[in-house]
Amino acid sequence: MCGIIAYIGSRTAEPLLLEGLKRLEYRGYDSAGVAILDGDSLQVARAVGRIIELEDRLGEIGGMGGTLGIGHTRWATHGGVTEANCHPHRDDANGIAVVHNGIIENYAALRTYLVGKGHAFSSETDTEVLAMLIGELYEGDLEESVKAALREVTGAYAIAVICAREPDTLVVARKGSPLMVGVGNGEYVVGSDASAIIAHTTQAFPLDDYNVVRITREGFRTSTIDDAPVTPQVMQLEFDLEQIELGAFSHFMLKEIFEQPKVLRTTLRGRIDHNEGRVVLGGLTSFAKELVKARRFILTAQGTALHAAMIGEYLLEDLAKISAEVEYGSEFRYRNPIIEDRTVVVGVSQSGETADTLCALIEAKDRGAMSLGVVNVVGSTMARETDAGVYLRVGPEIGVASTKAFTGQVTVLTMLALYMARRRFMSPDVCARCLKQLDAIPDKIERVLESDGHVREVTERYVGRDNWLFLGRGYNYPTALEGALKLKEISYIHAEGMPAAEMKHGPIALIDEGMPVVFIANQGRQYNKVLSNIAETRSRGGHVIAVATEGDTEITKVAQEVLYIPECEEYLSPLLAVVPLQLMAFHAAVLRGHDVDKPRNLAKSVTVE
Ligand code: GLU
Repeated sequence: MCGIIAYIGSRTAEPLLLEGLKRLEYRGYDSAGVAILDGDSLQVARAVGRIIELEDRLGEIGGMGGTLGIGHTRWATHGGVTEANCHPHRDDANGIAVVHNGIIENYAALRTYLVGKGHAFSSETDTEVLAMLIGELYEGDLEESVKAALREVTGAYAIAVICAREPDTLVVARKGSPLMVGVGNGEYVVGSDASAIIAHTTQAFPLDDYNVVRITREGFRTSTIDDAPVTPQVMQLEFDLEQIELGAFSHFMLKEIFEQPKVLRTTLRGRIDHNEGRVVLGGLTSFAKELVKARRFILTAQGTALHAAMIGEYLLEDLAKISAEVEYGSEFRYRNPIIEDRTVVVGVSQSGETADTLCALIEAKDRGAMSLGVVNVVGSTMARETDAGVYLRVGPEIGVASTKAFTGQVTVLTMLALYMARRRFMSPDVCARCLKQLDAIPDKIERVLESDGHVREVTERYVGRDNWLFLGRGYNYPTALEGALKLKEISYIHAEGMPAAEMKHGPIALIDEGMPVVFIANQGRQYNKVLSNIAETRSRGGHVIAVATEGDTEITKVAQEVLYIPECEEYLSPLLAVVPLQLMAFHAAVLRGHDVDKPRNLAKSVTVE
């Protein structure tokens, strides 16, 4: 959600900022802008729409010189998508320019105060209030005025600030929204995430909450907004440029769907001990004793991660026999939740920055729970805030619609359930058998991917329909939710997912002649019940697209379309069943002419509540 890039060094800032903004595009945005200092001359360009519009604007004015600048892709929260509301925002006296990700919650009171001081505003944003406040408090030291302003602010922010009166200084700060400083050779690149930095340096450090970094070409200094010195830990960024580039694929989403076998092998690598029949999760070692004593798991997440967490709930109950439940982070946090003794709360998030999930985790921790993170981005806030955790290791996910992170989350949660089961009661033999089945999943996904052409043909037949249902039972009820969400996110087709049995309690009224109804009808405990639900659908004219197990010929008698997945244990079936649904959503979006990697209104990591 929103992207920040900033540069200070000896190279011309403009192309660097534009390149960084393009790398951040995947996070989702509606407008963009840059501010560059050329000596003490502050130049600003902003445009609604894609980065290309901003490039055109820069072209019209003949480009910008200068080696210090800030850039922003905005995902509007306060004020419409207009040029006046685009970042960077400026103060009215000192040539201060600010880019901001997040929400200044007390902006209305601050604005009233600043209007009283005679300042006139030109936008509706909370960010302009911050720019003006920094200007109001400016007494010749940008870092000091930024700190003073941030002490007055409530809400969430990642900011980068420059000032025409200090043409050699960049000040950045964060609370709640991610920001990272890349340390190069005599230059610094600041970004919302590593993708904006990696082309320039592999050395970087993430900012902690309330940290302010003052950067010049000679070096940097980190302290808190209250002036306490901070020593940041510079780390090695573990991915390379290739991972965030398209290669031979047309879209990041497609690339990431097809990458799943490979990345899941990495998720599993070194974590399965076949001989001892156990799971090795290094990130949990120091908490192993407490974990075994856990009485209850609460999994908290949003969006796709919530669907993975729901599968985690089934896995923990079914395999490890531990009471587990899933909560939307956003609801859990404000509900006065009861945290009993020996509760483990697990935050599931691709980015590790999802504000709703993060707040829920912190709330649960404050109430005495032990916290675990199941996240993808190494060094992310959630990874740092939790007591222990397991990384997904699926590599950067650029496609806004999450695919490989979902299967990565389900894979990790399967390992977590087996880890718990084995430590509690499961014999090495039984565990070894389960692990062998889990280990075979990447190969089986490869087989599912071979049917991509068929999935496309099926999708083509139904892509004109505006309402779809996705139904499943047991482990594949969350898969149905995920299938519906994928379709909604990128093809903008209205789709609902629900337990197959729930259909007849109301939604069956929606079914009319030709309505596509996707059933996950793999072999399992509830197969016959699913067949009954299929019959009910057919009787009302619904067209059934079934995801079924290879070799099931019965299904062809009741379903108009069948998408086959290889045979597997029921508890692993979501890992296979979700793949044709991902492909279907992808093809539907392409066939409808949508921009798959930049779906309207969506942000990749939702860093505001
Ligand atoms: N709240 C700010 C605005 O609406 C920043 C939004 C963002 O994070 O992009 O302009």
